[in-house]
Amino acid sequence: MRGDASKHELVAPGRLDAVLDLLASEPGAWTPIAGGTELMVAFCAGRLDAPRLVSLTGIPDLRAIEVRPHSVVIGSAATFLDLRRHTIVGAELPLLARAASWIGSIANQSRATLGGNLVNGSPAADSSPALLAYDAEIEIISVRGRRRVPYSAFHTGYKRNVLSTDELLYAIHLPRRFERHVQYLRKVGTRRAMAIAKVALAATALAEDGVIREIRLAAASLAPFPTRLFGTEAALLGQAVTRETAQSARRALLAEVKPIDDIRSTAEYRRRVAANLLDELLLSLRREGWQR
Ligand SMILES: Cc1cc2nc3c(=O)[nH]c(=O)nc-3n(C[C@H](O)[C@H](O)[C@H](O)COP(=O)(O)OP(=O)(O)OC[C@H]3O[C@@H](n4cnc5c(N)ncnc54)[C@H](O)[C@@H]3O)c2cc1C
Repeated sequence: MRGDASKHELVAPGRLDAVLDLLASEPGAWTPIAGGTELMVAFCAGRLDAPRLVSLTGIPDLRAIEVRPHSVVIGSAATFLDLRRHTIVGAELPLLARAASWIGSIANQSRATLGGNLVNGSPAADSSPALLAYDAEIEIISVRGRRRVPYSAFHTGYKRNVLSTDELLYAIHLPRRFERHVQYLRKVGTRRAMAIAKVALAATALAEDGVIREIRLAAASLAPFPTRLFGTEAALLGQAVTRETAQSARRALLAEVKPIDDIRSTAEYRRRVAANLLDELLLSLRREGWQR
């Protein structure tokens, strides 16, 4: 049954310091709301357990996309449409721009935020594999100050993360160093649009003289939260892309992933598709000839 609006309080201070003061004043009492595309679905289904909501809209710092000499810093309340329209994101971080184009419909993309996608923490979140492959860092803010954590250490369990009740996800930092990397992202869903990932795989990789010198592999829907595949990376690092390397990487991936059966797919299908996507990635690396 739909929620009852009279049972919820919503404030929109429009200033970051006021939001942080509120979060600190009564730890756990206030829930941030950004685009609301997760929280309003919960409200409509009558399962929004957040009597007091503090809106993050109208705070320019939180929505800014800043291009620095060595990084792109994306405010947590930047929407997916903001990301799709940003020239540098499109040119230098194409995996993120592509993931943004997969989120729901244009209507969703105009409200749904990058920060909301990460804090919600769905194992199938579309933006996560790209951010993991780009080695993103998360900047967190509270009245106590700021801290940064690698995105690969942000999620701690199914829909759990390192944020304390008085903290906000402030920004996502992405290094500008992937021009020469091979970049890969595939999402497998029921349809091409308006579908949640059954499996997704992302990678950035760099080689010299035919040997893999750098690789970051990340997956969605293969564990309780979006994850880097460090074991599979280890099987590839320092190796030439041969049939033997591909086979040992495939074994490492199958040992590492922990998919489940759910309404969208089966664990067995997810494992097979993930291994096939890895083969596809390695094939494309061989075709590229590593001369970039
Ligand atoms: C029809 C539909 C289709 C969708 N399709 C997709 C899809 O294809 N792929 C996909 O990945 N997702 C999809 N989603 C999910 C959703 O749109 C995304 O997860 C979105 O990015 C959430 O962002 P938001 O700003 O709307 O979050 P909100 O609903 O505002 O918040 C979500 C959670 O994040 C917290 N939060 C938000 N911002 C912050 C912050 N800065 N600091 C701390 N906590 C914060 C909130 O407290 C809440 O717990 C879909 C949703 C709908 C309704």
